[in-house]
Amino acid sequence: MANVEFYKSAAQKDVLDNIKENLAPSTSISIIETKLNKVIFSTGENEKIINLKINDFSTILENIDGRTKGNYKEKNKIKSGNLINSLAAIGTYPNWNWVIISYIGNDQLYQYMYEAMSFSLTLTVVCLFFLFIGVYQLSNNLSHAIVLLQKGAQRLSKNNFDMKIDISGNNEFSSLANSFNIMGQEIKETQDRLTISILEEQRVNQDLKVSEQRQAMALLGADLGLWDYDLRTNRVVYDERWCGIIGLSLKDVPQNVESWMSLLHPDDAIEVYNTLEANLNGESPDYDKEFRMLHKDGHWVWIYAKGRVVERDEQGAPLRMTGTHMDISLRKHNEISLHRAASVFKHSHESILITGLDGRIIDVNDACLQLTGYSRSYLLGKNQQVFRPDNKAVDNTSEIFTTLKKKGYWYGEILYQNKAGEIYTVKQAVSSVANDHGEVQHYVSLFSDITESKKHQQQLEHLANFDVLTDLPNRAMLSEFLQHSMEQEQRRESNLAVIYLDLDGFKLINDRHGHKVGDQLLITLASRMKAVLRKGDLLSRIGGDEFVAVLVDLEKINNSEATISRLLKAAASPIVVDELELKVSASLGVSFYPQVQEVDADQVLRQADQAMYQAKISGKNGFHIFDSELDRSIRGQHENIERIFLALERREFILFYQPKVNMRTGQIVGVEALIRWKHPERGLLTPGYFLPVIENHSLAMISIGEWVTDTALTQMEKWKLDGLNISVSVNIDALHLQQSNFIDRQRIILAAHPLVPPFHLEMEILETSELDDVLQTAKVINACKELGVSFALDDFGTGYSSLTYLRRLDVRLIKIDQTFVRDMLDNPDDLAIIQGVISLASALKRDVIAEGVETVAHGSKLLELGCELAQGYGIAKPMSHDELPNWCENWHPDPSWTIQK
Ligand code: C2E
Ligand code: MG
Ligand code: MG
Repeated sequence: MANVEFYKSAAQKDVLDNIKENLAPSTSISIIETKLNKVIFSTGENEKIINLKINDFSTILENIDGRTKGNYKEKNKIKSGNLINSLAAIGTYPNWNWVIISYIGNDQLYQYMYEAMSFSLTLTVVCLFFLFIGVYQLSNNLSHAIVLLQKGAQRLSKNNFDMKIDISGNNEFSSLANSFNIMGQEIKETQDRLTISILEEQRVNQDLKVSEQRQAMALLGADLGLWDYDLRTNRVVYDERWCGIIGLSLKDVPQNVESWMSLLHPDDAIEVYNTLEANLNGESPDYDKEFRMLHKDGHWVWIYAKGRVVERDEQGAPLRMTGTHMDISLRKHNEISLHRAASVFKHSHESILITGLDGRIIDVNDACLQLTGYSRSYLLGKNQQVFRPDNKAVDNTSEIFTTLKKKGYWYGEILYQNKAGEIYTVKQAVSSVANDHGEVQHYVSLFSDITESKKHQQQLEHLANFDVLTDLPNRAMLSEFLQHSMEQEQRRESNLAVIYLDLDGFKLINDRHGHKVGDQLLITLASRMKAVLRKGDLLSRIGGDEFVAVLVDLEKINNSEATISRLLKAAASPIVVDELELKVSASLGVSFYPQVQEVDADQVLRQADQAMYQAKISGKNGFHIFDSELDRSIRGQHENIERIFLALERREFILFYQPKVNMRTGQIVGVEALIRWKHPERGLLTPGYFLPVIENHSLAMISIGEWVTDTALTQMEKWKLDGLNISVSVNIDALHLQQSNFIDRQRIILAAHPLVPPFHLEMEILETSELDDVLQTAKVINACKELGVSFALDDFGTGYSSLTYLRRLDVRLIKIDQTFVRDMLDNPDDLAIIQGVISLASALKRDVIAEGVETVAHGSKLLELGCELAQGYGIAKPMSHDELPNWCENWHPDPSWTIQK
């Protein structure tokens, strides 16, 4: 080793020594004096370094300087050309400008490296071994744990929470397994809890479903419609049943309360609203109301609504209200009917009695108590025989029960006795009331006391059949009696006589002494004349001073003579009235039955009437027997037209006048002119005896017709001058009317009587006459109308073309034919015809008059039917012109007519 020793001081030497002593065996060292750029000390072969080029070295030094900063221990690998081949540590001693470089030789270094490497390899192998062992062990442990964990997870996934993952130890896996186990347990518990809650929910749902079904069934069963009102949205929801009640479909229903209210009955709406409000405001616990709602069809349905607020907010404001609707129309109608029935029962003026099948009284109304005089408590349970005078039960065999069983009802009149013992007649209607199976449950009787009306009816019947003044049978009764007697005589083969009796001079007494005296005279005479008749005969009064006696069961007609004389005598005997001795006589006309030819009662009476005229003409206070042979012979003289013309010439025709009146007001509306033939031999003949002779003879008909019009107008002028202004109607034959010059002729006739206003003349066209040319007739009528003359359609209802005539002809007045009027009180057909004619006239705005009004009863009935105008024997018989003014002055309508409405 080249060793250069160069140092300046002992201190440097000590350092060098110290370095030398502590130098490791394979280590060499060089100390370089940097200032001198010289190696001052070196060991080993490192003297080569001395020859280091300064530049290289300084580069090293620079490197060393920059890195070490005087730190001796800093180690660096220095490479400096080929000279340095070992690792070195470089240190500096700046104070001495030394750089100390230590070297390790390459071999040593390799030795060290080898040693270090083999050590590290060994260590690595050992480590790897242990690592492998560890890893193996670890992986072994790991995979087992993972398998256990996986299985555990699988079990968990399969909902097997009972098996636990068993990983022992205190590692991650065991804690993971534990977590798994805990998790499984918790899942299981959760699942159990969930299962329980699901089951519970299912049960609740099931219960809810059942309850909903039950609720729906209950609603259906109870026939209830549901509504649900959400006040927050103002929307109302309904179910189908609700809609069905008022005939709506779900899509048509009212969406809100306002449109619902528009369906309410106006009379109910306010109350319903108030009730609803009360519940909404909490003033009432429920909303509960009955009202009417409009059905789609337009009728009202009775509803029973019930509901209440089911939800309120914290302030108590209603949020939701629900309820039901029920159709109670049937119940309501039943209630109304029941209410009505109850009110009828209570308030009825008729007595109502309800009895059981055994006749025991179940109930009575107040009217029954009032009528019978008993108290309700007394009557209930008693047998209804308590009302009967003889206290006799109406047994099951009685007519009442038999009819009840057969027809279900009975009505009739029956005698009752009240508590006070008074007997009275009741009109009773009994009806059996059956249940739904047709079994009779009880009887309902309605009855009222008709004693008074019965009395009244008897009075009326009496009035209808008897003359009020004399209490003798009147014309109606006479007619019935005569008819009945004629049938009897036929069976018995005996005869009857009809004596028509008219007083002579009665009018004079009436005029002189007044009606009172006249009436008294009539009463006395009536009873006297009645007294001379045999038992079984009949005396009737048929007019003012006209009586008819019917003598029955005459073996020979001569047997009547004695009675006739007695009658004449009775009538002619003086009578004292109010100290006045009065004397009249009678003219009698007699006819008999049976006759050679078949005759009816009316005819027989007419014959007697005609005979009576004969008796009058023959000088009064006598009798005339109707000669049927003579009558037939007169009727046989039909072809004797000349005689008619002769009669016209000789002025044998006269006019009688029959008044036409308004029965209600008492006004005399006119008179009808009726032709009579004052026949020198046969006495006064009515038109029936001679008009048929000229029926088809136009000249005679025209002559007679014109004579009648002219005579009537002349008479009207005379009356007018006497102060009587009265309309006259004349009968015009169709044949006459249809003459082409009819109007001109009428004009001339009217012009001849300027005092008479034409409208006072009326023409009656016979409906039965043949109006061949209706058109022509219509023309004539219209032309006459222009003249002021009006027309009436006579004998209406007897022709075939009444309606055609009525439609075509401008007539003012319709005269209902007397044949209908005569029998109207007994014959419903005639009555119906009259009713029909009256309504027809009213519909066509024509006046209507009834002819043939023979009695007050006829007049009353006509008034009742609405016909006020009348003509007939019951008012006045046709009379001569000189009688009329007096009659007009004295006539008064029957009082019962004027009070009729
Ligand atoms: P008519 O025109 O219907 O006249 C009414 C007839 O009924 C009259 O009979 C009259 O006396 C009668 N009469 C009135 N009231 C009653 C009553 O209450 N009971 C009953 N049983 N009869 C009553 P009359 O006078 O015998 O005339 C019969 C018919 O002769 C008349 O019926 C009319 O058609 C016709 N006639 C009368 N005068 C004339 C006339 O001047 N010219 C024409 N062409 N015919 C006449
Ligand atoms: Mg007439
Ligand atoms: Mg007539």
